[in-house]
Amino acid sequence: MLDSFQQGGLPNGSAGSGSSGSGTLGASQRAAGTKSPRTEAAKAADQPTKSVPTRPARIVYPFSAIVGQDEMKRALAIAAVDSKLGGVLVFGDRGTGKSTAVRALAGLLPAMRSVCNCAYHCDPEDSNICPACAAKKATGRVKTEVVPVPVVDLPLGATEDRVVGSLDLERAITTGEKAFEPGILARANRGFLYIDEVNLLEDHLVDLLIDVAASGQNVVERDGLSVVHPARFVLVGSGNPEEGELRPQLLDRFGLSVEVTTPTDVPTRIEIVKRRDAFENDPVQFAENWRKADEAIRRRVVAARKRLMLIDVPDQVLEQVSALCAHLGTDGLRGELTLMRAARAWAAYLGDKTVGLKHVRELAPSALRHRLRRDPLDDMGSGSRVSRALGEVFGPVA
Ligand SMILES: [Zn+2]
Repeated sequence: MLDSFQQGGLPNGSAGSGSSGSGTLGASQRAAGTKSPRTEAAKAADQPTKSVPTRPARIVYPFSAIVGQDEMKRALAIAAVDSKLGGVLVFGDRGTGKSTAVRALAGLLPAMRSVCNCAYHCDPEDSNICPACAAKKATGRVKTEVVPVPVVDLPLGATEDRVVGSLDLERAITTGEKAFEPGILARANRGFLYIDEVNLLEDHLVDLLIDVAASGQNVVERDGLSVVHPARFVLVGSGNPEEGELRPQLLDRFGLSVEVTTPTDVPTRIEIVKRRDAFENDPVQFAENWRKADEAIRRRVVAARKRLMLIDVPDQVLEQVSALCAHLGTDGLRGELTLMRAARAWAAYLGDKTVGLKHVRELAPSALRHRLRRDPLDDMGSGSRVSRALGEVFGPVA
């Protein structure tokens, strides 16, 4: 199952059997290069550096070295291209490398230029910045630094205070000042927020996270505080459907969903083990071997972000998208909107100028499977139901 999306080993030992092999997320998979490995600090070299992160860089497993799991990699890459898509829900077995894939993708993205000493690492070029940075900008004196794209884990059991931020009690007691202690959403700004077992999280927190991710701002009105700060991130939730389910209303609010499984074919399993072993023995060399392949993906993501809104979506394609959603009976219009956006981001990633049926076909399972109503008379998985509908509405793949 060598596909164009890359073969590669997932750290925790899993890779895609069930993935749909389309994309070209990859580019060259050759090992290569002679320069030092791309550590988080080195990535900052993409942009002029005024200060170097003080945190020692940890080498993350290269995204391009993940074996299989095409659908997951494609969904994550698309979410990185269009952060307004609503994030990604990853269903699947434990140890299928979900968290590794998120970290790997963040690790290959260009480091971000941020305002120094800002808890939200505001983008000096953006208008969605915190009041302190806005004030600095107004004076024209903004010091910046280059920081890696954050990946923040949301622990189960995290309180709402910890997520949204709260009154800094210590300061309130010692100085009498009402200061805001930023929470997890602050740290996740401009990066990824990863929630393992999102189905075990309280509904109101999931709701809140999706709201913030969609608006790009965290609004805190509590304990006499009134704070608004930027919080634009890609929400990635993983879940094991056997351990509790998300309410349909919450499912529908996620942009894409993918199913990952532990591969059953022996050659794939061997490849995963070999790569994981090689990575753990010598992460520096391993990262170096995959550097060029990761860089190719990064170039695609960066280019796709720039041309995203220039991609043409013909009415004929929108009609096809609507016909598919109507055939599947998805509620509301969120399915159509997401499928259109995902197909557009995928076209941009592939370097295509126009969205075609090909992009729609490839993205339909990820954009729609979590929006289907349960059908007690149909024991097919929801992904298969989408594939079947694709055949019924558009005919067999040419
Ligand atoms: Zn700021």
